Amino acid sequence: MSIVNFYQGESIPLELHKVRIVQKLSLVPVERRLAAIAEAGNNTFLLKNNDVFLDMLTDSGVNAMSDRQLAAMMEADDSYAGSATFTKLEARINDIFGKKYVLPAHQGRACENIISQAFVRPGTIVPMNYHFTTSKAHVVINGGAVEELIIDEGTAVTSDHPFKGNMDTGKLAALIEQHGADKIAFVRIETGTNLIGGQPHSLANLREIRRVCDRYGVIIVFDASLLADNLHFIKTREPECKDMTIRQISRAIADLTDIIYFSARKLGCARGGVICTNSEEAYLKMRELVTLYEGFLTYGGMSVREIEAIAVGLDETMDEDMVSQGPQFIAFMVEELAKRGVPVITPPGGLGCHIDARRFLPHVPQQQYTAAALAAAVYLAGGIRGMERGTMSEARDEQGNETFAKMELVRLAMPRRVFTLSQVKYAVDRIAWLYDNRALVGGLAFTEEPKLLRFFFGKLAPVSGWQAELAAKFRQDFGESL
Ligand SMILES: *Cc1c(COP(=O)(O)O)cnc(C)c1O
Repeated sequence: MSIVNFYQGESIPLELHKVRIVQKLSLVPVERRLAAIAEAGNNTFLLKNNDVFLDMLTDSGVNAMSDRQLAAMMEADDSYAGSATFTKLEARINDIFGKKYVLPAHQGRACENIISQAFVRPGTIVPMNYHFTTSKAHVVINGGAVEELIIDEGTAVTSDHPFKGNMDTGKLAALIEQHGADKIAFVRIETGTNLIGGQPHSLANLREIRRVCDRYGVIIVFDASLLADNLHFIKTREPECKDMTIRQISRAIADLTDIIYFSARKLGCARGGVICTNSEEAYLKMRELVTLYEGFLTYGGMSVREIEAIAVGLDETMDEDMVSQGPQFIAFMVEELAKRGVPVITPPGGLGCHIDARRFLPHVPQQQYTAAALAAAVYLAGGIRGMERGTMSEARDEQGNETFAKMELVRLAMPRRVFTLSQVKYAVDRIAWLYDNRALVGGLAFTEEPKLLRFFFGKLAPVSGWQAELAAKFRQDFGESL
């Protein structure tokens, strides 16, 4: 993807691909959106896709696939053992990451299950730059504890730090000194930190982490699920890497790690998961768990067609046009929203555009689920489905009190190569309209609150008639328009 300057001054990210398979979308009228969000209990996870125009819930398993990927899927070798398809994946991993042992799993969290069972013991610690929901859960279920050592800027809502996903290596060394290296199961680095806005880490930071780990004999496990975006940020924001190819940067990263794993629902634009390493000892520890939980070593719970697609998808990820598309579209959306005064997380990261609901709706208290209310309002305003990342995603404590999230965010994910720029402009317009009418937006209260994972299945209702008023205002402002 390149940034192209127009003769008349505008500068836009231009799509360097053409669309050859399309899927029809429907944009339902605001009256239907009002009914649909009520039917979904104001939980965007529960909306029916027929009522959704732009599905910005997630980037997982929904990135566009290429003609080459679809063609490769037809060539898949379905043999139970010794599949030629798996051999292709091994060769590709070896080529890109320089790791010779490759283990398949059905998705990212399945890799985390295997790695955690192999390395985490009760009482051990896993330092991380930042946790991801499933990665933390697998450490904890095996008796370990997570220590987040993100740099201080990492959780600042607005900042101009180019690498907010970096780890504080001083804190890492101090933590290892304090507990002893034998208490550290491994150090986990997440590229493109999912839960704090897809913010990247730098190659220099990883090198520094390696130095600390080598001093104490600790291994590095690298979660590469969001690597594509991070490659773009390293190439464009880290001066020492500006003349390196995406392939060279990928290899430089890989050479600083001991074990790499990823969700191929994100990296590689398909569905599945992969673990790789050069350590025979680590490989042997994990191998039997793959056969126990996933399947034989040459498919690991994945369809061989998906394995073909991953092999091609990884190759295509080594292309600057490919890795820059998501971040440049996200940057466009963030900057256009910021120009209109909408509070967004800056600088723009990967994964999606993150709206700061506390600044958007300062009059809606966290007790009324600020981010969830904003996610429902964004749907009403434009048929746009985002994801709540705030208090609704937390769990109550043992006494039943709310634990308020540090940030109340609405994440609008940007699946790679899926949306056109006019769709992104539409989203910007409707969110800007909503911002100008923010005083109309009110809070939510639970009507059905599951004990576990309430953000998936919980249902809420508006605390007042605000949604009908917002829909009426939409009609008044937009006339017959959808
Ligand atoms: C999505 C994700 C995972 C989990 O992968 P799944 O394929 O959804 O199981 C792990 N780590 C990160 C950083 C992710 O974004």
